[in-house]
Amino acid sequence: MAGGNKYEECPYCRSEVVDNAKKCKYCGEWVVKQYEDKDGVQLSIDEEIAHQLIQIKKIMKWVWIIIPIIALALFIINIIMIKNN
Ligand SMILES: [Zn+2]
Repeated sequence: MAGGNKYEECPYCRSEVVDNAKKCKYCGEWVVKQYEDKDGVQLSIDEEIAHQLIQIKKIMKWVWIIIPIIALALFIINIIMIKNN
C-alpha cells in the first residue's frame, strides 16, 4: 500500500481510484465531485445509467476494433478465393 493515499469508489465503474484523482484509470471517466452538495439527492438511478453507459462504451470500443478486422479478413479470403479459381 502506498502511504497516505486515500481511495474511493469510482461512480462509473466502481473501481477503487485514488481520492484526489480527477480521472478514473480504469474506465477513463472524469471523477469530478460536483454532485456532492445538491441537497443530498440520491444518485442511484444516475449511477445505474452511468454504469450502463460505461458497459455500452466498452462494447462499442470492441465493435470498432472487431469490425475492421472482420472486413479485412473477408477481403483477404475473397482475394485468396479469386486466385485459387
Ligand atoms: Zn471508473
